[in-house]
Amino acid sequence: MDEKNSLDNTAAAHDVVPENADAPLPSRGIILSHNRKGRAYGITCLKKWMRLNTTLFKVEKVDVAFSKGSVDEWTELLEFAKTEDIRLSLRIQNLQDDTFFDALPELELLDILLAPETLELGALSKWISRAQEHKIPVRVLLPLTMRSLPGLEESVACFKAADAVSFTWEKHFSGGRKKFRTPSSESLQWMNSLTRRLNREKVDVTLLNIPYCLVDEDNHGNVLCGEELFRDHSQYLYASWAVAKRIFLFGHARASLILDEFLASRQGRRNLADNLLLPWVFGKVRIEGRLWLLRRLSRYISPDWIAVQREKEHAKRHKLLPVASWEKTVRHDACTGCRFYRLCIGNTALFEKGFSSLNVTPFGGTPLLTTATVPSQRHRWFDVIDQKRRHFHEHQRALAEEALRISRATPPSKEMTVLDYAIEDHYNHWDGGDLKRWFSLSRGEMISTVLARITPPFTLMVTFGGGIAEQIGFSFGRHAKIVCPMIDYSHKLTLHVDKDGYYALLRDGVLVQPTEFSGASRVPERLPGILEPRISMHNVDGYVLTTTLLLWDQEAKAKQDLSRIKYSVIIVSVRYARRLQAALLSLAHQKNFPLDALEVVLAYVPGADGAEDLIDAMECRFPQLRIVRVPFPKEYVRSKGFMINESLHAASGEWITLLDADIVLPPDIFARVDAVSEKSHFIAPDGRYMLSPDTTHAILLGERKPWEEYDAIAAEAIETRHHEAKGYPLGFFQCIRRDILEKVPYQEFNHFEGADWFFSKEVIDRFGDATRLSGVYVLHLDHEGRQWYGTEKHR
Ligand code: SF4
Repeated sequence: MDEKNSLDNTAAAHDVVPENADAPLPSRGIILSHNRKGRAYGITCLKKWMRLNTTLFKVEKVDVAFSKGSVDEWTELLEFAKTEDIRLSLRIQNLQDDTFFDALPELELLDILLAPETLELGALSKWISRAQEHKIPVRVLLPLTMRSLPGLEESVACFKAADAVSFTWEKHFSGGRKKFRTPSSESLQWMNSLTRRLNREKVDVTLLNIPYCLVDEDNHGNVLCGEELFRDHSQYLYASWAVAKRIFLFGHARASLILDEFLASRQGRRNLADNLLLPWVFGKVRIEGRLWLLRRLSRYISPDWIAVQREKEHAKRHKLLPVASWEKTVRHDACTGCRFYRLCIGNTALFEKGFSSLNVTPFGGTPLLTTATVPSQRHRWFDVIDQKRRHFHEHQRALAEEALRISRATPPSKEMTVLDYAIEDHYNHWDGGDLKRWFSLSRGEMISTVLARITPPFTLMVTFGGGIAEQIGFSFGRHAKIVCPMIDYSHKLTLHVDKDGYYALLRDGVLVQPTEFSGASRVPERLPGILEPRISMHNVDGYVLTTTLLLWDQEAKAKQDLSRIKYSVIIVSVRYARRLQAALLSLAHQKNFPLDALEVVLAYVPGADGAEDLIDAMECRFPQLRIVRVPFPKEYVRSKGFMINESLHAASGEWITLLDADIVLPPDIFARVDAVSEKSHFIAPDGRYMLSPDTTHAILLGERKPWEEYDAIAAEAIETRHHEAKGYPLGFFQCIRRDILEKVPYQEFNHFEGADWFFSKEVIDRFGDATRLSGVYVLHLDHEGRQWYGTEKHR
């Protein structure tokens, strides 16, 4: 099971780190089961809201403030969350509501947030103990607006068992008109004493939006104010929080309408206007000038820009994102000159509302720009998801250092001049120099032709300049855009990819996180085992220049010569890793055929099943069978046609075999295919033997080895299917010349029903009949009728 989806939360870690240092940005969203009047949103509305968080905001975990709901409703939401591949946390306000108390272990929680409106230590202790009993991490959000406060010792005894404790004086997601009350000096004193003690007890304490001068100096590291708050991994992603805050004001119908509009996303695409207009306008100085002016004025309403800024645009239309209170700067004389001025809420309207009646004392000294510079004794807690993200970030930094070392210390192995690449499907203008001008009147993406065909590890470097574009970087296919914003008129971009496909993007030598486009697929964590990079630019303002591209591919000579590969077997596997193992073993045991003429191109979604572990094991035990990894973002988990078409770029063979992950091949099938390959363009077996569950389990458990007793296993089949589907070869085994697959791509539906049949039919209609391997039948492993890309049949 994927680490993120593991129900074992014990890997969650405590650590002592300076504020924000090495810590990931927030990846937590929030949805609410009810509005401010206590009226419930429907379960469909909650599912849409959750999908908004996964597709648009790309969070990996969601707090569900679930009051007045039933365990059955939670279970339905949980099942949906699993399909969205996110973890749920329960946010509870009414601790007297016991609906979930007994069922706590069955809720499959990432953690629980106790956010009571009143401070009752008895109820808090009861919930904390219950969660602890079942190893569920606990976060607590304590109100600071109580008139009577509990004693310090009993408070320490209660909260030292929690993983994270926050203090707040604001009221979020609760009914009533009053949104905050100024904390009394007694409650601030209690907060300070408790924070000091909990720091010693290694609890992660956060003082939310409390001015520094109201916090004891040794607790300054615990303060999180204003914008800093939304940069900390422990908090909500700003967009998700802001949307929740506003939707909370609306009823079910209006909330649904707003969510529908958010979800109706679209992406920018290249525009034909460039190809039609550019050749015509060059040389016509006045027309050219006016068009550039028009282009410049319209640049910021581009589709891509809207895609990046979608949250903001939609939010404005629905008044969902009022300017945040800390963005409304209020001149506060007392705070001017204070060294916390930039980090504190002292200069905001929020401060005026909450603390204007309290005395503030400015601190002298050099102004502090980030919370990382505030001395801290704070203990940080990372849940299992943030722990993983943190390590990923560390790995990226190591890759960035490696990229700098390579590019500074060694000469490039190849230089690609501007004559070695063109702008694909676009007007190409070259004025004879060593620079390529990327002119554009449209707002979408422009990509170059393929720069090289490379196997990681490698390093690429190119300089962009002379103009400005919204995003610049590299494209590795429709699902993998590694780009970052252009923030100046010239940037040197470096991309370093290690041997396992992990990468780091550097802009002017500084590590940057690739841009996530709202509504588009996530930026991939890893890149495939063979790559065809292209330069990618989005929303060019007039024109941008690129230079000679430098490639460090130091191990190029040592890398295998791929011309030996005749057959590439593309397998898409996102759920059936155990069956995939049987399929791969049947490939590794091919007889009377040179195994080094074969490669497997495995398209998979990291974490969806155990495919990565299986590849590692196969590479270790069968090094002669080349396996190319093609990881896809989880958004493509149901898009088999898309995965096949994109995987073709990673395949090196002159023949492509499309093989289902639940098929076991006869040990001589590639010898048979090879024997007819000279005179064929499309090859398929005569049919398939459908195996019983019993035989399937015996193969999966290794009790029976198909490469040793293929005929005996075949004789046990419960059904034989011969030339099914009106004689059109189906997708369980289609071996086809590469150039034909390039001309006839698979249909890219969000299901796979019928796509293999339509593909076969079109190929046969256009290029002639398929060659059948007479008497050859593959074994189809049973999968008990479970869903497989939309089909529930054993077809
Ligand atoms: S900025 Fe103002 S409120 Fe904040 S610590 Fe300084 S004086 Fe106090």
